[in-house]
Amino acid sequence: MKEIHILLFSKKQPKNKKKFCPSCEDYTDYRKDKRKEIYTVEGKVIEIDVERRICSVCGECFTSDKEEDKILKRIYAISNAAKKSDK
Ligand SMILES: [Zn+2]
Repeated sequence: MKEIHILLFSKKQPKNKKKFCPSCEDYTDYRKDKRKEIYTVEGKVIEIDVERRICSVCGECFTSDKEEDKILKRIYAISNAAKKSDK
C-alpha cells in the first residue's frame, strides 16, 4: 500500500489545463515561458520580464486579458517611476 502511495506522489503529473489559443481558435495545451519584452511608453524604452504562455499546438505565445492588464500596469508603474526620477 505504501509503495503505491509513493508512486502516486512521485509521479509528476503534467498540469493539463487548457487555455484558449486565439491563433488555433481552440483550447490547447501550453507551456509557460519567461522572456524579456521591450515596450515603448511615451518614447521611453521599458524592458520587463514577462511570463507568456506558448501554445503547444501552433507555438504562438498568448496571454489572457487579465495577464495583459497586469503587464500593462507594471509597464506604466515603471514609466511613472522613470518620469519622477527625470525631474
Ligand atoms: Zn495555438
